[in-house]
Amino acid sequence: MSLNAQPAASLFIDGRPVEGEGALLPVHYPYTGEEIASLRQASAAQVAAACRAAARAQPAWAALAPVERARVLSRAAALIRERNEELSRLETLDTGKPIQETLVADWESGAQALEFFAGLGPTVTGQMIPLGRDWAYTRREALGVCAGIGAWNYPSQIACWKAAPALIMGNAMVFKPSEETPLGALKLAGILAEAGLPAGIFSVVQGRAEVGAALVADPHVAKVSLTGSVPTGRRVYAAAAEGMRHVTMELGGKSPLIVFEDAELEDAVGAAILANFYSSGQICSNGTRVFLQDRIRQPFLDRLTERLRQIRIGDPLDPDTQLGPIVSPAQAAQIRQAIAAGQAAGARLVCGGAGEGAFVPPTVFADATDDMAITRDEIFGPVMTTLAFEDEEEAIRRANATGFGLAAGVFTRDLARAHRVVARLEAGTCWINAYNLTPVEMPFGGTKLSGIGRENSAAAIEHYSQLKSVYVGMGAVEAPY
Ligand code: NAD
Repeated sequence: MSLNAQPAASLFIDGRPVEGEGALLPVHYPYTGEEIASLRQASAAQVAAACRAAARAQPAWAALAPVERARVLSRAAALIRERNEELSRLETLDTGKPIQETLVADWESGAQALEFFAGLGPTVTGQMIPLGRDWAYTRREALGVCAGIGAWNYPSQIACWKAAPALIMGNAMVFKPSEETPLGALKLAGILAEAGLPAGIFSVVQGRAEVGAALVADPHVAKVSLTGSVPTGRRVYAAAAEGMRHVTMELGGKSPLIVFEDAELEDAVGAAILANFYSSGQICSNGTRVFLQDRIRQPFLDRLTERLRQIRIGDPLDPDTQLGPIVSPAQAAQIRQAIAAGQAAGARLVCGGAGEGAFVPPTVFADATDDMAITRDEIFGPVMTTLAFEDEEEAIRRANATGFGLAAGVFTRDLARAHRVVARLEAGTCWINAYNLTPVEMPFGGTKLSGIGRENSAAAIEHYSQLKSVYVGMGAVEAPY
């Protein structure tokens, strides 16, 4: 079986594949370490060319009737579904995530975003404001050229989640995927072109931080949407502010999952598994601080370890595999460091540990305290920290004692308590008796250091458009002199 995933060219600019002029960017299959493609980064001139092409093409795209733009997005969603197997295989090669995940979670959720915004876009209208004799109205207009910058954990989903609302509102987008996982975005560019998207409206440039920084600073760029870590978010937000650009920041987290002692044990354990080990734990919204009320603590840990023992770890292309490798040796090393620090700080390793090579097994810590690094810092790997608590007030206070505010979850059979607690949790996305479900109909995003803006749902429309107010005079103009 060939693992060659070399694309036609490294970039996609102004409607066609273009070879990069910058440094080499090798792409490795995380499972074997094998090089599956060798790309070239974009030069500064190529980033500028992509932005120029976007600025040139955008006005005509924005002038189309929304249903015409919607048709392109709908066709793209259909093409993705037709090719889901092939695209999912590529996603697995790019990220190392098990094929049983990528077949249902990655491109599929991208297709859902495209079809959702194709449906929603044409319903967006303005307001008519009566003013007596005169009146005013509002128009929701495109921002212009948007820059999209992605992380490596859900590369194709991220590209679709940003492109769909941007394009339906009449914007153009220049997208830079993560340097770790550059392949899916190129496929999306090809699919959108095949679906009828005009040249220049969705381009892809490749590269590391400098290429991202050049994109953010391009004078044509009106908005930047980043998915990445908090330190990168700070830099990108500051750079965007120079040009008064709009931003959406989807950043990291260290989210709490609070399990009260009346919770349905099996469901709470299942949710904690989804909240920590899906995609080898490389998910921003993961509930990595699991607060366990005293009486449920031991039964929870017993059942959790029992279920984790059954997990099938291995070849990501094997449909039975449930846990794949970590995306890169560097990331695996960071996760191992975090695990070692947890042990050194005195937390008890209930299961898992360092693992070998590209694999880190599901790892659970107990007897952790709030000041330990494993409780405070985002690890972005399959590492769960469990913490004991006594009462509701304490759980809320400790859950909120973090700079992050991306997500949170509550498990209890007492629904009044569930809503009461969720109302006080400082997080942009919360779940009650569920975790990590992110349907396109629901806004997704963070508060505090975890970000600004929302993806998905009608909320995303506001982040990819701006209001114009139009006052209409209906009679004589009265001037004082
Ligand atoms: P990262 O911050 O290292 O990189 C993200 C992207 O930003 C990459 O494409 C990178 O090349 C680019 N970049 C880096 N420096 C830049 C600069 N100065 N200017 C412009 N672009 C720059 O993040 P990562 O390691 O790829 O992803 C993991 C992080 O992403 C985690 O913190 C995770 O929580 C977060 N994440 C958040 C969400 C969300 O929706 N909230 C989703 C997925 C991942």
